[in-house]
Amino acid sequence: MVVKDAVGRGRGRVTCGDAGCSAVGAVHPAASACAGGQDVLLPRYNQPIPTGFAEEPGALRCAHFVNATAVGTDGGAPSAGQLAMEGSSALLCVMASDARFLTEPGVTGLAHELESLGYERTSVLDPFDTSASGEAIAALIDTGGAHAVTFSSPCAQLLRRRPGLGGPAEVDRLSCVGCQRCVQITGCPALSFAPPSAQIDPVSCTGCDLCADYCRTRVIFSPRTGESPAARQRRRFEAAGIVE
Ligand code: SF4
Ligand code: SF4
Repeated sequence: MVVKDAVGRGRGRVTCGDAGCSAVGAVHPAASACAGGQDVLLPRYNQPIPTGFAEEPGALRCAHFVNATAVGTDGGAPSAGQLAMEGSSALLCVMASDARFLTEPGVTGLAHELESLGYERTSVLDPFDTSASGEAIAALIDTGGAHAVTFSSPCAQLLRRRPGLGGPAEVDRLSCVGCQRCVQITGCPALSFAPPSAQIDPVSCTGCDLCADYCRTRVIFSPRTGESPAARQRRRFEAAGIVE
């Protein structure tokens, strides 16, 4: 979600690869070759993927998703040179939720692999800290060139296995203004619009709290409401059994 915000909408904005999550979808920036994201892309936002031929402009901004396990294996992740050809501003987004990449040696090893692939700058971000991650990604994209970010966090799904750490989010349906921003931006299957308000299925909600971040009227609450991004991240590491 923070990546598609930074990439923006319109022709020449492309996301590709595979983030492995439908959350990339719903209000996708433009063209998408991303499995999952493509499935939930609303038709009105769909754009053709630029071919790069002379008669049409190439990609202006490109975000390419790969799993961390693909970095360091032959051909699993594009090099900076390959990705830069796709757009004037290119971002390799590495999804690192596997325990191997969540320790200090794992994070450092991944950064070295990305440097060897030629990326000018490499950053490690908490994907659930939408404010800090959004600012960092926007700055990288505005710089131009090819950069890499690693989204480093245990999966929010793990919170459901530890009742003391998780718990679903809930919409205050009397205060919800029915704008559907949460539904459209997240593409989360646990969220739906039941006029006149949004609602959350407590069984399928993981408790990731991302929808709460995007509700402008602040009517989505959870047991974690008011906690800092660092405190929420500690819950995820604890749920994954990883001591930082
Ligand atoms: S973004 Fe907030 S106000 Fe809008 S539909 Fe969702 S919960 Fe309701
Ligand atoms: S908190 Fe629940 S409903 Fe909201 S985006 Fe996360 S999983 Fe979906």
